[in-house]
Amino acid sequence: MGLYNLKIKQQGIDVTAPGKKQFFGHLHPLTLVRRQVEEIFQQMGFSIIGGPEIETEWYNFDALNIPKDHPARDMWDTLWLKNKLLLRTHTSPVQIRYMEKHQPPFRIIAPGRVFRHEATDASHDVQFYHVEGLMIGKDISMANFKAIAKEFFQRFFNKEVKIRMRPGYFPFTEPSFEMDIQCLVCKGKGCSTCGQTGWIELWPGGMVHPNVFKAVGYNPKFWQGFAFCISLDRLAMMKYKINDIRLFYSNDLRFLEQF
Ligand SMILES: [Zn+2]
Repeated sequence: MGLYNLKIKQQGIDVTAPGKKQFFGHLHPLTLVRRQVEEIFQQMGFSIIGGPEIETEWYNFDALNIPKDHPARDMWDTLWLKNKLLLRTHTSPVQIRYMEKHQPPFRIIAPGRVFRHEATDASHDVQFYHVEGLMIGKDISMANFKAIAKEFFQRFFNKEVKIRMRPGYFPFTEPSFEMDIQCLVCKGKGCSTCGQTGWIELWPGGMVHPNVFKAVGYNPKFWQGFAFCISLDRLAMMKYKINDIRLFYSNDLRFLEQF
């Protein structure tokens, strides 16, 4: 008789004692939001594609109409690696890789992690998630984009969300715009999440620049379409009313266990 069994024999077993509680893991809020976003776009006929996080200058910049020494490169504070490689600053390179291998018409989204060499604050971090989309066809216009965006917000937030569009500038789209949604944390009154403006810059985009089509071998006379980029982190901040992006990456269980 082992020592353990002897102990049980002497003390007996208390069958009424409560068992040990098992702790189960669960999905991170960003994963929950990403899955929901992917599901909505799949319902609207978009395919989901992926690509590498380490990229070359060609895929991250040149093919996107951002040549070397172009001042627009300053818009993306880049983390450079050895041998001129870099950590992708957006998931647009995934779209370039896709276009090189496929012919339009198509609609795709490229969700994934992106990196920036910048100071962190409540709304900026060195890493975050993009969902970039692309819809190319013969007659795809801005009207299609607006319809897709409105439908997306309706399904994602399960209610009507106020949006506004402003002219913007990006080298890879022309015309370019910024789409904002009214801040759902403060309902437009102004708070730290929206920088006191009442609006959240959530969805920049525009019509794909002919130079991008030329870089992947498409004839810009035949094809046109729109590209856009959603910040998954900001979307999650709006959905769960979180006022600091850094909470997503802090691994603080007090925060994570709420989801
Ligand atoms: Zn706000």
